[in-house]
Amino acid sequence: MRDEDVAIRDAVWRTARAMHREGLVRLSEGNVSARCGGGRVAVTPTSLPYADMVGEDIVIVEADGRPVAGGRRPTSELPMHLGLLAALPEVGAVVHTHSPYAVAFAACARPIPAVIAGEAAVVGGEVPVARLAAPGSPDMATAVLEALHAAKGRRRAILLQSHGLVALGAGLDEALAVALYAEQMAQTAALARLVGTPITLDLGVPGAG
Ligand SMILES: [Zn+2]
Repeated sequence: MRDEDVAIRDAVWRTARAMHREGLVRLSEGNVSARCGGGRVAVTPTSLPYADMVGEDIVIVEADGRPVAGGRRPTSELPMHLGLLAALPEVGAVVHTHSPYAVAFAACARPIPAVIAGEAAVVGGEVPVARLAAPGSPDMATAVLEALHAAKGRRRAILLQSHGLVALGAGLDEALAVALYAEQMAQTAALARLVGTPITLDLGVPGAG
């Protein structure tokens, strides 16, 4: 395996462990991917708890999904990761979580409003909701891309209706930060509705709000 692919593989593993440590997923939920060289993609394996995962468990696949390294099977959400990376050249990493407050909004098919300035600036404003799509199907990527297109602007997080959240970044650190801040926005919005009426921000940038 190429040295650059080993470095990306280990970075995907560290990001997946951080996603689990931060409470954005449980056991083996969710998945992480990042671009390697030559169109290859490093992605988390299916059905392996993060607590037991080591760097060698990360799977490297060709752009068409054929595994080229790693002894495990890739996540069942591989078609979504490959579809998003193929359609969005500015995106280098994808983090998919089932974080609790974001999932509460996804369960209601309600966007997460932009109610905290700092977090919303990273996330790209309100988090839109992608229509229901079958888990593990290529349609999941189509649904996310439709929601991105409909929302316009530079959105970096998308809710999957009745399922979870997808966070996009130029690299793994950004995608993880987007996932964490989208969850923080959802938690704050839910709590703020107990306190009063949260004020939705107009961030003053195209597409944000
Ligand atoms: Zn999921």
